[in-house]
Amino acid sequence: MVLFEDRVIPIGERLKPPAEAAGPIASQPVPERVDAAIIGGGIIGLSIGWRLAARGMTVAVFDRALAGAGTTLAATGMLAAAAEHEPGGEALLPFALDSQRRWPAFRDALEADSGIGIDYRAEGTLVAAQNRDEVARLRFRYDHQQRSGLRVEWLNGTEARRREPGLRASVAGGIFCPDDHQVDPRLIVPALVRALRKRGGHLIENATVTGIEASAGRATGVTTQNGVCHAGTVVLAAGVWSADLLRPHGIDIPLRPLRGQALALRTTRQTGTLSHIVWTEQIHLAPKGDGRLIVGATMEETGFNSAVTAGGMLALLEGVHRIFPSSEEMEIEAIWSGFRPTTDDDAPILGNTPLPGLLIATGHHRNGILLAPGTAAAIEEMVTTGRAMETTAALELGRLLRPSPIPHVTGATACN
Ligand SMILES: Cc1cc2nc3c(=O)[nH]c(=O)nc-3n(C[C@H](O)[C@H](O)[C@H](O)COP(=O)(O)OP(=O)(O)OC[C@H]3O[C@@H](n4cnc5c(N)ncnc54)[C@H](O)[C@@H]3O)c2cc1C
Repeated sequence: MVLFEDRVIPIGERLKPPAEAAGPIASQPVPERVDAAIIGGGIIGLSIGWRLAARGMTVAVFDRALAGAGTTLAATGMLAAAAEHEPGGEALLPFALDSQRRWPAFRDALEADSGIGIDYRAEGTLVAAQNRDEVARLRFRYDHQQRSGLRVEWLNGTEARRREPGLRASVAGGIFCPDDHQVDPRLIVPALVRALRKRGGHLIENATVTGIEASAGRATGVTTQNGVCHAGTVVLAAGVWSADLLRPHGIDIPLRPLRGQALALRTTRQTGTLSHIVWTEQIHLAPKGDGRLIVGATMEETGFNSAVTAGGMLALLEGVHRIFPSSEEMEIEAIWSGFRPTTDDDAPILGNTPLPGLLIATGHHRNGILLAPGTAAAIEEMVTTGRAMETTAALELGRLLRPSPIPHVTGATACN
C-alpha cells in the first residue's frame, strides 16, 4: 500500500496505466475558463501549475486518475545530473544542471507553500565498482564527466568504503557526486497538490481530458467528461500518455514507455542503512528519511505491460545483495513498476508545438524529478514572455517531429 495524503492507494492500482485505474467521473467542477489548462497531474504538470498559479494566473490541472499516480509515485527521487551523465547526454546536460541548481529554492518555496517537508537529502551519490572490469568502465565514465565539467571525485576502494562502511569489501573504486541529492516523491506529490491549491489553482482528478480544443488554428481549451474548459494556454504534461492527445492534431511524437521495476526495503537499527545514494552497474539504492531503502530500477522495453516480474525482482535483489550484505535481513515493504516517458534521444520535449497556444512538457525519461524545477521555469518563461530559456532551446519538439499517419484536423477533437 502507498500512503498518499489522506488516501491509501493500493499498490496494484498504481501499477495500472491511468486509463484502467481511472475512478469515477470527476466530482470537482470543471472551471469554464482559465489562463492555463494543464493536462496531467504528475510532478511535471503539478509543478508547472503551481508556479503559474504563484504568478497570479488562473490554472486548472486535470488528471484522469489521482495526482502522481502515473509514473511520478514510482520514482526514487534522485536528482542525479552528474551520476546519470554519459556520452550522448550533451544536449541534456546544461538543462539537467540548471534544474539541479534550482532544486534548493524550489524545495524552500514548496515546503513554505505546502507546510510539507519533502525529505531533501544532500549527502550526495556514490557510484561503486566491484571488480577490475567495472573499475575500468567507471574510470571511463569519470573521465567523461570531468571533461564535461562536472563536480565528481574519484575514490579508491578504501575511500569508497570509508564513506559507506556497510558496502562489501569487494568495492574497488567509485565516483562521488556531491551535488546529486534526493527527495521523496511520496512527499512531493501531496506537497505540490497543497501548494497548487494554496495559490488558488484547481486540481481536478478522475477527469480524463479526451481532446484538445482548437479554433482558427489555435488551441483554445480542453474537453473532459464533465465539459469543456477554455484556456488561454494549454500545457500537455500527460507523461508517457501525451502522444494520444496530439495525434488528432496531426502531430506524431516518438514517445514510448520504458518499464522500471523497483522495491522498498525496511531498514532497522539492527540492519543499519546507507548514508548516501549508492549506484552500481545493476541497481541504485536510496535511503529515505522514514527508514525505507529504495532499490531500483529495471529498464525494460515491454510496452504498457505493468507486471512486476520474478526476473525483475531477482535482478534487483541480486544487485543489492552483491553490494550491501546486511540487506538480507531487511523486510520487503513494497514492490512496484512504472513507465518512464522516453523519447528517441532520451531527452524531454519542452516548449511550443505546431498548434499555437499548445505547449508541451513531456518525455522526461529517467529524470522527471530532477528536471521538474527547470521544466516549470521553462514553461513559465514561455507562457509569460513567449521565449524559450537558453538551456531548453535544444529540447524543442521540432527535433523529433515525424509525419503523422493521421490527417490534420482542426476544431474540437476526441481521443482515447
Ligand atoms: C522505477 C522508476 C524510478 C525512477 N526514478 C527517478 C529518479 O530517481 N529521479 C528522476 O528524476 N526520475 C525518476 N524516474 C522518472 C520519473 O518518474 C518520470 O520522468 C516522471 O515521473 C515523469 O513525470 P510526468 O509528470 O511527466 O508523468 P506522470 O507522473 O506519468 O504524470 C502524467 C499524468 O498524466 C495523467 N494523464 C494521462 N493522460 C491523461 C488524460 N488524457 N487526461 C488527464 N490526465 C491524463 C496521468 O494520470 C498521470 O498522472 C523514475 C521512473 C521510474 C519508472
